[in-house]
Amino acid sequence: MIKDNLERIYNDLPNNVSLVAAVKTRAANEILEAIDAGVKIIGENYVQEAEKVYPSIGMRVEWHLIGHLQRNKVKNAVKIFDMIETVDSVRLAEEINKRCEYINKKMKVLIEINSGREDQKSGIFPENAGPLIKDISNLKYIDVCGLMTMGVWGDVEESRKNFKVCRKLFDEIKGMKIENIRMEYLSMGMSDTYKIAIEEGANIVRIGTGIFGVRKY
Ligand SMILES: *Cc1c(COP(=O)(O)O)cnc(C)c1O
Repeated sequence: MIKDNLERIYNDLPNNVSLVAAVKTRAANEILEAIDAGVKIIGENYVQEAEKVYPSIGMRVEWHLIGHLQRNKVKNAVKIFDMIETVDSVRLAEEINKRCEYINKKMKVLIEINSGREDQKSGIFPENAGPLIKDISNLKYIDVCGLMTMGVWGDVEESRKNFKVCRKLFDEIKGMKIENIRMEYLSMGMSDTYKIAIEEGANIVRIGTGIFGVRKY
């Protein structure tokens, strides 16, 4: 089933769009099945879950953190992840920078945008993204390389609005030509919204249910 699902999804993706397999709650054997069927990037929400499956998977894939990161988890996160998609404050970026300096690793990060301006959501409001990026652009172990945003749960057309906001911001920040940063990746869209996210300019989509089936918990 995982293999068939992936085949269908890969058929939908233009060449320039990368698939992140969102693996929260999935067992190592399911993740390995997805990797056998071609998955190159694993997206984890929690550092602890990544630590559990990392030993049986390792560096054959790229690891993206797609859930909110607490500062007390940064030390462990930087050991596993190749990209942290959810940076939304100077303090978090500084902690990542410090921990990456210790292990001499430059971390790719995306800035998470709260494009729907929902109080309960993580991410930074769009108007604060430019200033945040300028503030962290001189951190030596941080490589800002794009933006990430979430849609609106269960609402495809509201999600499209969020994606439009984030795309516009992406282009604006690109136009600012801030030194040491690049606007290369735009991560938006999940199982129910990835097609419209691609229409709105996404080049990373994060899909869980569409690959692995409905989550049991
Ligand atoms: C779970 C999750 C996804 C994937 O959601 P599905 O609806 O299962 O495809 C994408 N991004 C984030 C941040 C997630 O937590």
